[in-house]
Amino acid sequence: MTARMTKSLFHTSRNQQSDPAAELAFDRLTTEIRACALCAPYLPLGPRPVLRGRPSARLLIISQAPGTRVHQTGLSFNDRSGDRLRGWLALDRETFYDETRVAIIPMGFCYPGRDGKGGDLPPRRECAPLWHARLRALLPAVELTLLAGSYAIGCYLPGSRMRSMTKAIAGWRDFPPEVFGLPHPSWRTTRWLRDNPWFENEALPELRAHVAVIVNPTPRSVPYPRR
Ligand code: SF4
Repeated sequence: MTARMTKSLFHTSRNQQSDPAAELAFDRLTTEIRACALCAPYLPLGPRPVLRGRPSARLLIISQAPGTRVHQTGLSFNDRSGDRLRGWLALDRETFYDETRVAIIPMGFCYPGRDGKGGDLPPRRECAPLWHARLRALLPAVELTLLAGSYAIGCYLPGSRMRSMTKAIAGWRDFPPEVFGLPHPSWRTTRWLRDNPWFENEALPELRAHVAVIVNPTPRSVPYPRR
């Protein structure tokens, strides 16, 4: 996939204002999602879709799937993964949870259960094809999409499927300005961070600067320069 094609996937109308009709359409769709029980037979804790956002959100985080704490509280990234992600982005909880600025949609909206090694199962594969396109169409102000984890990267950067997640993220300088790939910020990533110090030393400072512009727009904000 070329950068131009990728841009067309992610970039919508810049600085578009939400309106009552858009708010209503968004509410209707999220109500429909929250009633979804498609995967009920496979979900050990039952369906509880966890997502957030408003049509005015300029930062979109596409993540993996809720863990047990997120399932229990119904609040995206309300766990240690979220603490790490907020640290990566230099966002406090107030900003991170401001739905008018930050939308969060996982690849699978419901907690998928545990695998045999004690980790979480992959996001339910039914979920993203069923809901993502409709949801993203109702998030017209998004200017930056963060792909957190291999499932989001594999889905939204198809050119990366033949590469490892590390190689995909190591190409961060070639990401179009509208998208940035991250490892999933879970405990499993601790060793990856140790083995790939360029991520925290080089990639994150640039991402933080970009995120700061996106979530704190000025009336005359200029396009973010990519090195
Ligand atoms: S994971 Fe997605 S598709 Fe499956 S029940 Fe939850 S909301 Fe529905």
